[in-house]
Amino acid sequence: MTLADLLSLRSRTALVVGGSGGIGAAVVARLSEAGARVVSVDRPELDPPPGAIAQACDVSDPQAVAALFERLRAERTEPDLLVHCAGIVRDRVLWKLSDEDWRAVLAVNLDSAFYVLRGALPAMRQRGGGSIVLVSSINGERGKVGQANYSASKAGMIGLARTAAREAGRFGVRVNVIAPGLVRTAMTAQLPASVVESALAESALGVACEPLDVANAALFLCSSLSARVTGQVLRVDGGQLIA
Ligand code: NAD
Repeated sequence: MTLADLLSLRSRTALVVGGSGGIGAAVVARLSEAGARVVSVDRPELDPPPGAIAQACDVSDPQAVAALFERLRAERTEPDLLVHCAGIVRDRVLWKLSDEDWRAVLAVNLDSAFYVLRGALPAMRQRGGGSIVLVSSINGERGKVGQANYSASKAGMIGLARTAAREAGRFGVRVNVIAPGLVRTAMTAQLPASVVESALAESALGVACEPLDVANAALFLCSSLSARVTGQVLRVDGGQLIA
């Protein structure tokens, strides 16, 4: 097989959850460029990224996700590839964190990943193949001051992915995680300069990542280049966390 064949996603359908966000839109662009038909899922009020079929869904709502997969079945756009990039932050030091902010972050970041995996896996199992990528964070691995809810949700995604990799592997379905460090998107645009500076100081390369850095890793994990890679956490962080 040529390198171009290994990278090609032609005749594949990809579902990008959070496809209107900074990282999500870059993933939509990269997977489309590799030939996939891309369905972008995001909150109803947002514009879909160019080149994708749009599906509005609040992915923290299990009934809405079940209805989404009903529509995908009816429209014959059930995914061969799934990249989960939906996420929120509600930062607060642990002893000031409200129940509401704990639940909201867990619901959007972690519960939604469970709901979409549960929705996507039956068709992938039946077809005998698929690739799933969950976008976690290095802060799910190491913890971060002010991010108990976010870090717990991102750590949970790693356990979820590793379990799904074990359960679905025999059906030819691979499940991996990308753990980015600081990436320049709307999510990090409001961070105080001191937080960005300390992230850059931690980074071996001394640079912040761009959404396309994460999208390139997602393309690798979706493509046949990574045919024997499953249950892994791939850090895309410029060497912010080396352990
Ligand atoms: P972003 O805010 O640009 O994008 C997040 C997307 O998720 C948005 O389009 C938003 O509408 C969508 N979303 C939020 N709640 C939703 C819901 N209930 N239903 C459907 N969609 C919903 O942020 P981003 O930086 O692109 O982050 C993408 C992913 O990468 C997130 O999981 C984030 O935690 C992770 N991440 C980001 C960074 C970073 O530095 N930007 C670092 C590590 C991990």
